[in-house]
Amino acid sequence: MQPTFEDAVRLSRELENADAPAVLQWAISNFGRNVALASSFGAEDVVLIDLITKIDANAHIFVLDTGRLHQETYDVMERCRKKYGIEFVTYFPDTSSVENLLRCKGPNSFYESIENRKECCGIRKVEPLKRALNGKQAWITGLRRGQAVTRVSLPKVEMDFTHGGIYKLNPLASWSEEQVWAYIRANDVPYNALHDDGFPSIGCAPCTRAIALGEDVRAGRWWWENPEQKECGLHVKS
Ligand code: SF4
Repeated sequence: MQPTFEDAVRLSRELENADAPAVLQWAISNFGRNVALASSFGAEDVVLIDLITKIDANAHIFVLDTGRLHQETYDVMERCRKKYGIEFVTYFPDTSSVENLLRCKGPNSFYESIENRKECCGIRKVEPLKRALNGKQAWITGLRRGQAVTRVSLPKVEMDFTHGGIYKLNPLASWSEEQVWAYIRANDVPYNALHDDGFPSIGCAPCTRAIALGEDVRAGRWWWENPEQKECGLHVKS
């Protein structure tokens, strides 16, 4: 039976005080291969990779390769592949859509307007995500409430109507940045080397920069836009 918004609210209340491994265990027990972890290899994502593979060594983990990622992101992907023995399921953008975008607007159109930036994110992230979630009953993200003004009310369980009315699970919603890094260090989890160069949040190479001391953690993502507009379309509400 298709879950409802009320189901998600009830589950979110029930799981609010559950720790991240308990939320992941609940997801694996209930959905098996029909739950997928989305990974872009940020600090939260590598924590989730470590946690979920301790529960299910064959957990389904997918990656959206936008074609514009940093080399350091591929490096941490490879270190995770070796450490955990995972076959990451990788989704690329539709070839003809990228070719058409570059032919009409060039390689850097995202700097010119919010519409152009959303168009690029739509082609390179949003459409591949739709394919990645096709047939899934739930997906897992590394979103946290402390990451952005757009995420302060993030529940641990929400409904994702954009992808057909499936559950979206945010096991680290209540974690602080300090907790994330304490976990990485205590468990020797591979992490993206860019974090050591002042990148708290890592996306595509042309749209991510290092931040200065005291700046918001998302200040380096699409830094030319207002904070309220800084979502790529992967986590929109519908
Ligand atoms: S983050 Fe930048 S390069 Fe990546 S998909 Fe969005 S606009 Fe395109």
